[in-house]
Amino acid sequence: MKLIFEKHKDGRRGFSYGSNCVLEAKLLPRKYCRAKAAILPSLSELDVVRHYTNLSRLNFSVDTNFYPLGSCTMKYNPKFTEKVASFEGFLQLHPLLPQLSGGGKLAQGSLEVLYETEKLLCEITAMSAFTMQPLAGAHGELTGVMLIAAYHKDKGSRRKYVIVPDSSHGTNPASAAIAGYQVKVIPTGPDGYMDLAEFKKELSDEVAAVMLTCPDTLGIFNPRIKEITDLAHKAGALMYYDGANLNAMLGKCRPGDIGFDVVHLNLHKTFATPHGGGGPGAGPVGVSEKLAEFLPISRVVKRSDGSYALDYNYHKSIGYIAPFYGNFGVILKAYAYMLILGKEGLTKVAEIAVLNANYCQAKLKDWYDLPFSKNCMHECVFSAARQVKYGVHAIDIAKYLIDKGFHPPTIYFPLIVSEALMIEPTETESKETIDAFIDTMIEIARLAKENPSLIKQAPLNMPVKRLDEVRAARDPDLSWKPKI
Ligand SMILES: *Cc1c(COP(=O)(O)O)cnc(C)c1O
Repeated sequence: MKLIFEKHKDGRRGFSYGSNCVLEAKLLPRKYCRAKAAILPSLSELDVVRHYTNLSRLNFSVDTNFYPLGSCTMKYNPKFTEKVASFEGFLQLHPLLPQLSGGGKLAQGSLEVLYETEKLLCEITAMSAFTMQPLAGAHGELTGVMLIAAYHKDKGSRRKYVIVPDSSHGTNPASAAIAGYQVKVIPTGPDGYMDLAEFKKELSDEVAAVMLTCPDTLGIFNPRIKEITDLAHKAGALMYYDGANLNAMLGKCRPGDIGFDVVHLNLHKTFATPHGGGGPGAGPVGVSEKLAEFLPISRVVKRSDGSYALDYNYHKSIGYIAPFYGNFGVILKAYAYMLILGKEGLTKVAEIAVLNANYCQAKLKDWYDLPFSKNCMHECVFSAARQVKYGVHAIDIAKYLIDKGFHPPTIYFPLIVSEALMIEPTETESKETIDAFIDTMIEIARLAKENPSLIKQAPLNMPVKRLDEVRAARDPDLSWKPKI
């Protein structure tokens, strides 16, 4: 597709209402005005409308296609939450509105949303308090590890290490390292669980925390999780729960009940906010009682007269971790989503998410290698090792799926599965859609044997064909420069 600049024709104009003159910016001081006109393409109205309409049709999104991206929970995002977020009273909010006085109670409703969302998340996770401020999952992790560091420091305990399993999301060791800890990595055993013997060997009074994803990134729930949290606590370490994808757990099992001390959630995965393309997100962090005093400020409190206020008066707080109150719109959408679904609806989310993933696993396990053959939770992880024999790799399968109108599953993650294909159908897809995806995966498995070159050429129907991905990463060409 041509850039809009390349469609330029000297003298061509779009229709303009009134005068064609550029409005003079009378209020702007002269020194801020440009001396020469900007280099903009000259085009007709129709050129511009078609250009942008056609560009928008190249979008690949949850609104247009099935998106089984494991460990990312790309589910359908209900439109009613968008509507709620666009209510005038929320849309026109200014973060510096007075909480109570001056103009009445303009901020009270939003403070109530923050307060009530925190209460619902506490109930879902069995935590005592949440900060709603972190702006993404990774930001929540960093906040959580900072809380753990503050807790140990307050107790006068000097600890150097954070333990993570080798199946963990890369942000876990990264967050621990940024917070100043050294990372100890525990291998996964042949059963798909963190190697318990290795874990015990590494656990000591120098370990500050153990960061776990549960169900882990293989989509497996470790039945010995309580034993792990007990062992960690006995050593004086805290348990960190990566709850980015909580779909399988909702209403079924609560991190706090299994002994976790810190939890982060991704509202933009589990709680109905669209994501991808970098945000916006929200990664609220919940803590058990003993960590609550370290939470970031401000915190929303309910006063005895029923009004809500921002409280900054926590002398052990780790301080500010984000401007103002977090990504309010994302929190608001999660709140609306939880209220509409209620306890029964959220429990159903978990049941259907797990059912759909197991359906995919059962239907595809004769066609693809399944390194860990247990029943899965919200996602299942295959390997394309069998297809590699014919020269077809996970990346080729991914490209062919794009041609067929499916977003690829997550590939090459978790790192411990070679040629990983990590499929998360989510709870919001119909049986017809999932079946169509399964049929295509089976077709690929057949083709891999019979006509592998066809898969290796894909995508053929997309505006961008196979790229030299190394060159694209090392030598990107991202900006248009005028030819003068
Ligand atoms: C997505 C994800 C994260 C990171 O969340 P971001 O919002 O992308 O920073 C952390 N852990 C797991 C398991 C995830 O799936």
